[in-house]
Amino acid sequence: MNISFKYANRSNTSVLLKFDGIIDNQTLCLLVDAGEGTDVDSLINEDENEFLAGILLTHLHLDHYISLDENLRDNTRIYTSKENEKILNTVLSEANSNRTNSFNTHQIQSSVTPITDSITIGDALTITPVPAGHTPGATGFYIQFGSDGDTETILITGDFTRRTVAGYSGLPLHETDTLILTGATADSFQDSITSALDKALEHGVSGSPTLVTASGLNCVHFTYLLGHLLDRTSSPSQVNIVGQAAKLYDALGYAVPNVNSIQEYDAGNVVGESYITVSGPDIPNSGGAKLLFDEIRHDPNAGLIQLVSGDRGDIADSQCTINRYVTVNHPTMETVENTIELLNPEQAIITHQTGDNLERYRDQLPTAVWAPKDNQTYTFYKDGEWTPPHWINKETLRKYNSSTQPIKLPAVAPDTDSFRRMGVDLGGEGVLLNNVMMVSDTNSSDYKYSTASTPNPGV
Ligand SMILES: [Zn+2]
Ligand SMILES: [Zn+2]
Repeated sequence: MNISFKYANRSNTSVLLKFDGIIDNQTLCLLVDAGEGTDVDSLINEDENEFLAGILLTHLHLDHYISLDENLRDNTRIYTSKENEKILNTVLSEANSNRTNSFNTHQIQSSVTPITDSITIGDALTITPVPAGHTPGATGFYIQFGSDGDTETILITGDFTRRTVAGYSGLPLHETDTLILTGATADSFQDSITSALDKALEHGVSGSPTLVTASGLNCVHFTYLLGHLLDRTSSPSQVNIVGQAAKLYDALGYAVPNVNSIQEYDAGNVVGESYITVSGPDIPNSGGAKLLFDEIRHDPNAGLIQLVSGDRGDIADSQCTINRYVTVNHPTMETVENTIELLNPEQAIITHQTGDNLERYRDQLPTAVWAPKDNQTYTFYKDGEWTPPHWINKETLRKYNSSTQPIKLPAVAPDTDSFRRMGVDLGGEGVLLNNVMMVSDTNSSDYKYSTASTPNPGV
């Protein structure tokens, strides 16, 4: 068997994998995510008997699903986790209501094959989804196949964190030969999420009407953290998660203490002195967030807290306090390096970066790194061997091959429960508990969480 890859769009959020030699006279192709500008017709040569067997959908951020329906062909399945399937409909309808382009939700829905433990395609490739941190439901995939009695493993991380997210485990590490790794990193998540929570509690608990705006899945994560943090204060304040964000929260089956989920709402009744109200979108110039913001924008006592992914979108005319936090839940570069050390793969293919930011990975990671600046097709597995990029010299390869793995990792084990949410661990989610004023002031003797148990930041 031969396996090759090719970047599938400009931002490299999508990659096409081609598996040659598992089906007679045909090349089975898998598209990893369907980001902006991905066009399978330009990537797959039907005259050469290449066909798109599936799209592996890692998570429901637009830069990973925006071209989903355009790239469905006869018999193409969308493989994803059950968690993503639960929220897919809500995410698509919300996107349709906010955007000019419209998703064919019916076609997408009927093409989805949710995987609970694992699935085998082409009689040869076993695909196992695993939680990947990043957002509630985000999924990485292990792809395995047999070769001469051995099992070979590829891990596709998708956007990931090693931190837990709203109860979902961070990316678990198993024995991996080749890693398809997102190059998107962020350094400040812990500081910014902690500051935003601290500010929301400061406002909300003091009785100021408080509105938090964020993208839908970030609303769910923030609400999860806020509800559990309120549990550790004596405040009677409640969190209202409203509108589309509430639909996501309900679809994932959350029941966080101190949280009211309100799908259909009357704007005047869900913001007020005893509530911290959470709703999307992140910029309250449209949709549910706008209706809610209109209730408080002229109240100098009220506060708006925005969780945004970049510095953009000014808000017109208001008298309330506005605080904006850039919260992007990616791993730090240190975590990426640490993950490579633990996995010790033969090679890594970097996605989600372009130009110099992509190329710098060639020297940054202690493994053979595929980071081509073009979208040629590169073969990385040939006749039963992993084949490194041609730009890696023998000396460097020898260095990598002699480096030892610090911990022997378990092999992938399909697990129906891998997406089951874990017990609450706010430190593990990235919250710096000592910096949350309302909570660290707690003198209660039955204070459940010792800061000593806070996991290594960013790992
Ligand atoms: Zn993402
Ligand atoms: Zn992304």
